[in-house]
Amino acid sequence: MIYRTKNPLETQQLAKSLAQKYPKGGIFALFGPLGSGKTTFIQGFALGLGISQRIISPTFVLMKQYDLPNQPGRKLIHLDLYRLEEIKQVEHLGIKEIFNNPGSFILIEWADRLGKLLPQGAVSIKLKKGIGTIREIAITN
Ligand code: ADP
Ligand code: MG
Repeated sequence: MIYRTKNPLETQQLAKSLAQKYPKGGIFALFGPLGSGKTTFIQGFALGLGISQRIISPTFVLMKQYDLPNQPGRKLIHLDLYRLEEIKQVEHLGIKEIFNNPGSFILIEWADRLGKLLPQGAVSIKLKKGIGTIREIAITN
């Protein structure tokens, strides 16, 4: 499905409703250039899961984790691979163990950097900048 949002709030609302469509968790791969709204989308997604901490882009760390409220062991894992220099770095993070986290939500900015390490079953979220604050967001699973 392709959606068009007119402002950051609409992008967050779209993400919030997507989060609620996956009660069992999953892997969500975000694609799109700087400023297209990937982090904004993840903020909305986190709100949809009841996470009250504000999600910021982990500039110098590749990964941040947030506990889901009242759901022991379940997490939102935010990966931002913008500063990934070589694929070895994600291997060192233990990317395979991260993906093998049933019940958790794994959201990956710059998911294209994973190449073949990106799991087949990931939901793909492609963001494009339009005029002004318009964003086109294509979601496929
Ligand atoms: P990315 O993580 O892709 O680099 P961010 O979410 O950090 O992008 O930044 C997106 C920027 O674009 C923010 O400053 C946000 O306020 C702005 N923006 C304007 N319109 C939208 C929209 N429709 N959806 C998402 N962000 C938008
Ligand atoms: Mg970002």
